[in-house]
Amino acid sequence: MEPAILDRSIPELAALVQRGEVSAEEVARAALARIEQRDGALGAFLTVQGEQAIEAARALDARRARGEALGPLAGVPIGLKDALCTEGAPTTAGSKILTRAPAGGASKAPDPARGYRPPYDATVVARLRGAGAILPGKCNMDEFAMGSSNENSAFGPVKNPWDRTRIPGGSSGGSAVAVAAGMTPGSLGSDTGGSIRQPAGLTGVVGVKPTYGRVSRYGLIAFASSLDQIGPFAQDVKGAARLLEVISGRDPRDATSLDAPVGAYEAACGRDVAGLRIGVPEEYFAKGIDEQVEAKVREAIEGLRGLGCEVRPVHLPHTRYAVAAYYIVATAEASSNLARFDGVRFGLRVEGERGGKADLQGLYGGTRGEGFGREVKRRILLGTYVLSAGYYDAYYLRAQKVRTLIRRDFDEAFREVDLIAAPVSPTVAFRLGERVDDPLSMYLADVYTLPASMAGLPAISVPCATAPAPDGGPPLPVGLQLIAPALEEARLCRAAYAWEQISPVRGLRAPVA
Ligand code: GLN
Repeated sequence: MEPAILDRSIPELAALVQRGEVSAEEVARAALARIEQRDGALGAFLTVQGEQAIEAARALDARRARGEALGPLAGVPIGLKDALCTEGAPTTAGSKILTRAPAGGASKAPDPARGYRPPYDATVVARLRGAGAILPGKCNMDEFAMGSSNENSAFGPVKNPWDRTRIPGGSSGGSAVAVAAGMTPGSLGSDTGGSIRQPAGLTGVVGVKPTYGRVSRYGLIAFASSLDQIGPFAQDVKGAARLLEVISGRDPRDATSLDAPVGAYEAACGRDVAGLRIGVPEEYFAKGIDEQVEAKVREAIEGLRGLGCEVRPVHLPHTRYAVAAYYIVATAEASSNLARFDGVRFGLRVEGERGGKADLQGLYGGTRGEGFGREVKRRILLGTYVLSAGYYDAYYLRAQKVRTLIRRDFDEAFREVDLIAAPVSPTVAFRLGERVDDPLSMYLADVYTLPASMAGLPAISVPCATAPAPDGGPPLPVGLQLIAPALEEARLCRAAYAWEQISPVRGLRAPVA
């Protein structure tokens, strides 16, 4: 049987639309129908922009009818993490503070449809539109991208389609599930310390965190500016490569965006990998990793060896400081980035009192007290503390020095090898609610993704197996992480694609009811 239109890969789907074998409008309607049908049980979308999506699709069909060439994402529906600004459409970053209070007052449940409406598109959003993509809606996420389970969203959690009692990972959980459950063939997320790779790994899709600076952050609501990077999710490596190629490149609106030429990521898929040197850091298989996850990742690495890669051990000795250093740097930057949400310009406004008198301090306190969730408050407190006079040297400055050491570990390793292969997460998806009261165990979910973030390096998560969870239930996805030197995204795509062709879970999709 022909696969349903939305189950086609991104390059196939775009080709069908470009050739006029299917209209962009049909594809857009199919995506909207799937969201309607499947998302009630999953919670991946916060808002759906149905009318705008159909209008954009019709405009694309009209252009085709006039004989104009369509872009590389012609008619392809792409979900957007709700931290990406979309002109005129609600943008919440998963936070109550970016929504106007519903009728009944600020203490009522927040409504994402009352979210902040930016007057402009993020650069990546503009590039997607320019390439012909259709944007059906905004995806759920941990509040301000802080989290590893999507349980920190002000609008409720996202469920993992492989087992709905489990988390999909975070913070881009909605973007991952949009793809894993076949609602959109691709999506964008952002990754500060693992927020693309970890949910991709836990939901069995491909996710790429590009080199810091490869993709413009203009219009991404900031969490930790020296780490944040936007990247794609897709069901396969080629799809992710095509998306990455569209969104990459210099943007004068983001001073940290790099001027380096964009690689041929999709064309790299299919190139031989024989002779590639793959480093395996033993520090990534240390205590805390689930036995089954370790076994599956090691099998995947053996698979690469079978393709002619040379596999050898490498050492990244500062790995064990990554969690501590990250949670200092990221919280410090967050405390400063989030200072702008004070009730004056954006979203929620709660007049408060101080000493029985309504004043500006009262407004700040009222708005931030009501608008931010617990995890965000925890991080603002931590971040403000590590930046404060007298503690700055002991914490923030020290963490920056550790960051340099982590980066040097990778520099050393990449003298010997071309890529590093590792697990994405120490465990398969855990149960909803299991870690919400234990921030430290939640932070530890990121041990294997944080180091590449701290070093600014590109990394991909590609499905490599399914494995049973230690606490029972259906088999769950396991991801293989590949890390490359800066700007070597093409090498990542090349190796991940080669692995995907021999992967035991190639083409395996989450069960959808
Ligand atoms: N889970 C990590 C955190 O909570 C990383 C989040 C991210 O990459 N945005 O900070």
